[in-house]
Amino acid sequence: MLTTEFNYDQFYASDKVKVALKKLQQACVLDKYRIMEFCGGHTHTFFQTGLIDQLPKNIELIHGPGCPVCVLPAKQTTALIRLLENNPDITACVYGDLLSIPTDKGDSLLKSKGRGANIQHVYSPLDALNYAQNNPDKKILFYAIGFETTAPATAMAILQAKKLQLQNFSVYCNHVTTGAALDTILQSKVNLNGIIAPGHVACVIGKSFFDFYAHKYSMPMAVAGFTPLDLVIALTDLVKLVNANHTSVINSYSRTVTNAGNIAAQSAIKMVFEDKELYEWRGLGELPSSALRIQDDFSAFDAEKKFHFEFEQVKDHPHCQCPKVLLGQKNPLDCKLYGKACTPSHPLGSCMVSSEGACAAYYRAGKEANAY
Ligand code: SF4
Repeated sequence: MLTTEFNYDQFYASDKVKVALKKLQQACVLDKYRIMEFCGGHTHTFFQTGLIDQLPKNIELIHGPGCPVCVLPAKQTTALIRLLENNPDITACVYGDLLSIPTDKGDSLLKSKGRGANIQHVYSPLDALNYAQNNPDKKILFYAIGFETTAPATAMAILQAKKLQLQNFSVYCNHVTTGAALDTILQSKVNLNGIIAPGHVACVIGKSFFDFYAHKYSMPMAVAGFTPLDLVIALTDLVKLVNANHTSVINSYSRTVTNAGNIAAQSAIKMVFEDKELYEWRGLGELPSSALRIQDDFSAFDAEKKFHFEFEQVKDHPHCQCPKVLLGQKNPLDCKLYGKACTPSHPLGSCMVSSEGACAAYYRAGKEANAY
């Protein structure tokens, strides 16, 4: 449990990280460990802090699909742009990194804003709710994305909107679920020895959620926090599981994650959302029961029921390797466009947009493109 004396900086302290790295090095007794960090937040920490270059040489990190911006299909954003440009009375409230996601024709919400669409940058669904309360003459739509980490806050905003009988607030729901992505990765051909599981998702759904997948696919996992020390400790725990051939889950983030997770947050999700039969993930294709939809009891707040969205299939850039990067089958440096035609200021694929995307993490860490 966190107390007022809790010193978060200790998890960044280089002397502590160095000691932990030494223990990790000692634990690495096999020739190779292919470890997937499922979550883009972990990718970001590995690269932003330079930890990636300090890991034992026999650890190979495979980057997973846990970046909500990266897996959001372009057609969702294209449909929103069309809706906003045809309906100037609607204002979309969006997270900052959604603004520059490229669509198939090089368009983006930012460019649409430049053409006059009403788009507001917000930090949370509650910001959007407040904006709706303060602007009763406007129709406010919140563009909701993310895994189980962000879904509770969206659910709370919808519950609050219902309580306030707010007529001008709705949610464009694009929340996805971790289980479907784990199934897809673990059924694919990617060769893995273990997975670093996302600590923030586990805070909500509990460590026990991952037990099911570790058992189902005989895959060791370690639930990890987001600082360099958290990650080195989790890698050490995971390497020990691999060495011992144990296909279980170790909770390496026990100061925050419990076995059962956050019951109140799970209840909020269950109260407001239900499984969507089919949802298309960028890179992974259409996956059954892989996303959330708003239950009929709350349809007054469901933007897709309130407004007319026109969805059409759109294609990613033909040379973009994002689908394979998201499945752990390719490295960003394998993409011919990396660092040349595709950079964070001119992204051609979704993995270059968010700081949690593998391509953006590589680029910001100064990783150089392979020579072709
Ligand atoms: S470098 Fe750009 S184009 Fe290539 S895989 Fe990454 S996001 Fe896609």
